[in-house]
Amino acid sequence: MDTPSTPSNFLRAIIEEDLKNGKNEGRVFTRFPPEPNGFLHIGHAKSICLNFGLARDYGGRCHLRFDDTNPGKEDPVYVASIKEDVRWLGFDWGEHLYHASDYFERLYAFAVELIEKGKAYVCSLSAEEVREYRGTLTEPGKNSPYRDRSVEENLDLFARMRAGEFPEGAHILRAKIDMASPNMNMRDPALYRILHQEHQNTGNTWCIYPMYDFAHGLSDSLERITHSICTLEFADHKPLYDWLLDQLDVPSRPVQYEFNRLNINFTVTSKRKLKTLVENGVVAGWNDPRMPTISGLRRRGFPPAAMRDFCERIGVSRSDSCVDMGVLENCVRENLDAKAPRAMAVLRPVKLVIENYPEGQEEFFELANHPKNPDMGSRKVGFSREVFIEDSDFMENPCAKFFRLAPGKEVRLRGAYLVTCTDVVKNDDGTVREVLCTYDPASRGGDAPDGRKVKGTLHWVSARHCAEAEVRLYDRLFTAEFPGKDADFLDQINPSSLETLTGCKVERSLTEAAPEDRFQFERQGFFCADRFDHAPDRAVFNRTVTLRDSWAKVAG
Ligand code: ATP
Ligand code: MG
Repeated sequence: MDTPSTPSNFLRAIIEEDLKNGKNEGRVFTRFPPEPNGFLHIGHAKSICLNFGLARDYGGRCHLRFDDTNPGKEDPVYVASIKEDVRWLGFDWGEHLYHASDYFERLYAFAVELIEKGKAYVCSLSAEEVREYRGTLTEPGKNSPYRDRSVEENLDLFARMRAGEFPEGAHILRAKIDMASPNMNMRDPALYRILHQEHQNTGNTWCIYPMYDFAHGLSDSLERITHSICTLEFADHKPLYDWLLDQLDVPSRPVQYEFNRLNINFTVTSKRKLKTLVENGVVAGWNDPRMPTISGLRRRGFPPAAMRDFCERIGVSRSDSCVDMGVLENCVRENLDAKAPRAMAVLRPVKLVIENYPEGQEEFFELANHPKNPDMGSRKVGFSREVFIEDSDFMENPCAKFFRLAPGKEVRLRGAYLVTCTDVVKNDDGTVREVLCTYDPASRGGDAPDGRKVKGTLHWVSARHCAEAEVRLYDRLFTAEFPGKDADFLDQINPSSLETLTGCKVERSLTEAAPEDRFQFERQGFFCADRFDHAPDRAVFNRTVTLRDSWAKVAG
């Protein structure tokens, strides 16, 4: 166990204090409790890293618990995706995979215990009446006329609710607390409702389902969770969490702690909004690389280590804030800069013909896969008379500061030769068909034999030694820094969040990349072979991030 000497956040401080005092027999049990009603997003990654990270660092364990108390919205597809995402982020729940629905029978027994203790009653007001009786923030509520039903009547009605005798909405089970409480959550909150719906885990066994607030703390207790860590919006629910544990004969006494949820600008972190994007066809699915979902970021090429690093750096506190998207992108850049092999890819190719290079001749250059890490080895890159360069690297009438290729100018083809532009051949419509040049045979490797200065260095691929690829350039999904703040978030979609380039020319070795392999395409950015579409006969790369934060420049 590697315990830091100064706790880096308030939760670590609490846990270390508890351990010092021998609380919970020295156990640290946490849990990550997603509801399987959508895919996980970057905000959930923070909660995952936090809960699993604390368990790891303090020799405890972290449970994965599906909080599946809303049958209508939940789906096994979501269950599978959540498990995959947590594993991919690098965490392991071992044998501790649970569902709130695993406890439905025990939760029912807790509800019966509450009724028997006179602490819960069956209420037959309509939903609208319940709302009316609840009062407002400034006015107390009124007691339900059903509040004083006898224990026997409540037990009978609750059993018949379970037996399926009543339609949805006919009755609910409510806690008997205090209709005048300043905390609305304590005004006789609902504990169970009737839902004649099939459940993704329990099928048709039940037609009454516990409310989240009832199920959550009791599930924590059944699993002997010690530190139940949730986001700040649950702070107002803590009195109810504690009240339930106080009334009932529970196996253990967990404590709820709240931390700030992660918000990031230029995106949304709400499952409801993400679902709308998917359902409206704004994106191609939950794992579209523009989505802030874990599976979207994965497909975009974000390494799990970079995401863990990000969650570590943003830290936890008790006040809400918004993190700049650039912080996340920088974690990704840093990770990939160290780890991603280099390669050359020409995204918008124009042909360069080296007129004094013999036709039919070819040679190979040994290029390092990483400029600073020789352990990453090297590869052979073929060269011939015709190569492709980026069309933006050539200007027929260059402006003053243009150091790339132009008539009469000399540039370096990275790792190969120095070439000088002699002429340009055009199509009928005036666009450039070929750029003609000559090369200096004495500059093999790209160094001038006489030490003359050559400023521009271009990436290139040889026409005989390249493959075609599709490259998808992704940008931020929203144009607004805080989508939904001043307008409907659906009206703030960035229309150029995806640009698909076909006919890109890449080093042939890139066709051997496995899906999800990541590269730096020199001078272009970091790219990842698409997890689903990349195949040996079809190269497809997604741009993960640009080399520098282009948005910082725009904003600054
Ligand atoms: P959403 O608001 O997107 O629907 P949720 O809170 O309803 O999310 P849950 O499945 O209930 O989704 O979340 C599981 C856990 O993840 C909860 O403990 C929740 O507090 C935490 N969580 C959700 N969103 C964030 C976030 N943005 N930052 C940190 N933790 C989060
Ligand atoms: Mg929730």
